Amino acid sequence: MKERIEECFKSRFATEGVFYASAGRINLIGEHTDYNGGFVFPGAIDKGMMVDIALNSTDKVRAYSVDLDSYVEFGFNEEDAPSESWARYIFGVCREIIKRCGNVLKGFDTAFAGDVPLGAGMSSSAALESAFAFALNDIFNLSIDKFELAKIGQSTEHNYCGVKCGIMDQFASVFGKEGNLIRLDCRSMEYKYFPFHPQGYRLVLLDSVVKHELASSAYNKRRESCENVCRVMRENGYPRVEFLRDADMAMLGSIREKISDEDYLRAKYVIEETERVLTVCEALERDDYETVGKMMYLTHYGMSKEYEVSCQELDFLNDIAKECGVTGSRVMGGGFGGCTINLVKDELYDTFIEKACRLYKEKYGRSPKVYPVVISNGARKL
Ligand code: ADP
Ligand code: MG
Repeated sequence: MKERIEECFKSRFATEGVFYASAGRINLIGEHTDYNGGFVFPGAIDKGMMVDIALNSTDKVRAYSVDLDSYVEFGFNEEDAPSESWARYIFGVCREIIKRCGNVLKGFDTAFAGDVPLGAGMSSSAALESAFAFALNDIFNLSIDKFELAKIGQSTEHNYCGVKCGIMDQFASVFGKEGNLIRLDCRSMEYKYFPFHPQGYRLVLLDSVVKHELASSAYNKRRESCENVCRVMRENGYPRVEFLRDADMAMLGSIREKISDEDYLRAKYVIEETERVLTVCEALERDDYETVGKMMYLTHYGMSKEYEVSCQELDFLNDIAKECGVTGSRVMGGGFGGCTINLVKDELYDTFIEKACRLYKEKYGRSPKVYPVVISNGARKL
């Protein structure tokens, strides 16, 4: 990939640049916990974005997307926003830096490419934002701290790309470290690295290649349920429950009669999911990947039967994993489509992949996409 980018950069800009890279991400466990003040547990992966960049002595950005074979020029003012959606990520990062640091940027040339599959749930957009945020911070000596770099990516999504995302993707893409997952407390924003060395196991994503329409309205309803349960708890003896993060199953049991069955199940999932993240962290400290796997299956069950954000395609992939003796498997991301993430013993890997692809194709007419991933470094200079 590097040679290809370098070649494009040289032929287009007739000069040499400096290379930066960043990563997509997975989330091992901790789903729908972020807006409940709980934990997520992401890591950067060995698929990312690579950026070749050099100052160009103008007041414009000249950017070339190698993968899309698309070239765009833009200035740094709000009205210079490009219409190409890929370029808006770069423009947005520039604007968010200017908002924080003033007019510190000068024109630059860049060519970039990536291997994070687009829209598959590994956050290619965060990889793109964090690569540029990291690169510009370094080139212009801005001393922006890493957390702020992640926030620059998040604000870019909010303000220039119309995506109201949380901080996890950009956080993982900036903070990712080889052989480590990062537990992020979505309330305090404290984070901690945990070792992830699954010797004898592999991590693989199976992309169901479906995305059901329900996602955004269902998401809003789930949030309402969570808020409702917190409110009922506050009114019934637990005034300090701001988020479901603050609740436990005994508290939920005590208000059982005051909420609907549906809200009960939603809250049960979130409370238990927050506990599962902690269980997985403890397990990783003793290299206990069997426990990690069990928690992943429990998460899948919860997302499917309690939080009800799975779909039949994902349940089908999860069932096959179980039948094949895969250590852990669950739907990753918000649900209603996307990928399952699977922790598979080396010796079962080929059989599992073959069987999953064959049976899925028989049933749904197309094969899932297979993405093996290794936990790797986040944004960096090459
Ligand atoms: P994801 O879940 O992968 O983040 P998004 O829809 O949020 O999916 O972001 C995908 C968008 O990010 C693409 O439509 C494109 O604009 C931009 N993008 C991602 N990867 C690349 C790439 N390699 N080259 C150019 N643009 C990219
Ligand atoms: Mg995205």
